[in-house]
Amino acid sequence: MSNFVVTDLDGPILVVAPHPDDETLGCGGLIALATEAGIEIHTLFVTDGSASHPASQNYPPDVMADIRAAEAEQALQRLGAENQPRSFLKLRDGRMPFPGKDGYRHAVDVVAELVSASRFKTVVVPWRRDPHTDHRISWRIATDAVRRNEMQVTLLEYQIWLEENGQADDWPGEGEVDDASLDISEVVDRKHHALEAHRSQLGLVVDDDPSGFSLSSQTIARLVGQTESYWVTRWPAQ
Ligand SMILES: [Zn+2]
Repeated sequence: MSNFVVTDLDGPILVVAPHPDDETLGCGGLIALATEAGIEIHTLFVTDGSASHPASQNYPPDVMADIRAAEAEQALQRLGAENQPRSFLKLRDGRMPFPGKDGYRHAVDVVAELVSASRFKTVVVPWRRDPHTDHRISWRIATDAVRRNEMQVTLLEYQIWLEENGQADDWPGEGEVDDASLDISEVVDRKHHALEAHRSQLGLVVDDDPSGFSLSSQTIARLVGQTESYWVTRWPAQ
């Protein structure tokens, strides 16, 4: 495992979060440290996060989407990144278009335009085989957008659900990626505080869907610690 510091990364940086909360769980430390170092870091929220409590009557999808966007804004603020750029693609949570299906091309068009305008040097995405369909399609959209621009970037991949739900062949193959670890001890309190902004994902908002999603203390302990782990490649490979 090689260690890196945030100033080893070339900016501007794009962070791709499939759902509001992935930015904090996966790379909240990196966002805080990059901001502190004066590196531009743009967070792209891909889905609207509206599917976390599907049985709720009091919090239908449109209401959930608004709540989760507000939580995302607050999390960025708590990471110190309130003045950093962000955008919301607002794809339907859990119903993202697969490559080749209606809507996929449009999603790549929008992200490709953002990549073209901002000329990101580093792109931070969920792990390509993270065992959640929205995470895998988010990876695909972001990397297709980079390819469309005929750019080459440093790709950092963070895993969210791999350790809990992954199959053996979801893990990186031999030589597929390099391990990299970022010490975030200086900002880990901010990362904790930012995660607490995602109240709806901590069982603190929706009161009429007991089967709805809630982050477990085990997941939080695994993802919010003194370091953040990434897998690094150049994308596209040459
Ligand atoms: Zn997610």
